[in-house]
Amino acid sequence: MRLAILDGLRLGVVLRDEVADVTGALPWTHDDDPLTAGWWRALCRDLDLVRPALAQAAEDPSVPRIALADARLRAPAVNPSKIVAAASNYAGHVAEMHQVQRRTLGRIEPWMMEFDVFLKAPSSICGPEEYISLPAQQAAAEIHHEAELVAIVGKGGRRIPAPQALSRIVGYTIGLDITVRGEGDRSRRKSYDTFSPLGPWLVTSDEAGEPSDMDIELVCNGALRQQVSTRDMLVPVSEIVAYASTIMTLLPGDVIFTGAPPGVGVIRPGDKLRVRISRLGEMEVGVR
Ligand code: MN
Repeated sequence: MRLAILDGLRLGVVLRDEVADVTGALPWTHDDDPLTAGWWRALCRDLDLVRPALAQAAEDPSVPRIALADARLRAPAVNPSKIVAAASNYAGHVAEMHQVQRRTLGRIEPWMMEFDVFLKAPSSICGPEEYISLPAQQAAAEIHHEAELVAIVGKGGRRIPAPQALSRIVGYTIGLDITVRGEGDRSRRKSYDTFSPLGPWLVTSDEAGEPSDMDIELVCNGALRQQVSTRDMLVPVSEIVAYASTIMTLLPGDVIFTGAPPGVGVIRPGDKLRVRISRLGEMEVGVR
């Protein structure tokens, strides 16, 4: 099932080239204020219980449908408690970061070459129809795209064993982890408003299939920049989830970026970034 967030934070089920507005089938009071929209996190936690009603509503001829082309889709993540992101999770990206750091820092930071997780501000999330807004920055710094597979936490938990980890994920979406390269704290450099585009929808785990077998591709202004299989992750999604949950309780609706493939590069105003991930779809975001 493909779940989309529509204008007014309404819930859509994506069918071929239409979106059915299934908000009325939710068992919770709908709230269009992102600050209090707990229904989204409840949906991530309890999708198994709610799914039959959503599937039925999506087929109901009396439920409103909008052409996908006319729908203004929002990020499929509403006010998550946190964005967890994996660092240094593809060997090819770790290798290219030596060059990038020499250029933007004038030195290599060995601790940044090791796998770990860090946090991004949830307020950096933007939708697939929005633009990445570039901040003013220091002269040596560059702002880069990182096209990533993103997991959305379902039931979540603390100290989740790796073999159970994927069952705590409700689904997957496409993400861009936009990053200022240069001096300063990593969380700050990745947390500017609009630095976490997500979309175009959430594909539930059953339909998305194995997260260890997806192709990620990023095209910037028509030129292929990033292309990788998630098979090449140094730490697979199940172990990222397990590791993160030894540090912090993963709550329903939390967002997990799974790491940058090689091919990160500079973005400039006017650029168009198109990211494709197998079985998830395609998202295009502009830069200004
Ligand atoms: Mn990243």
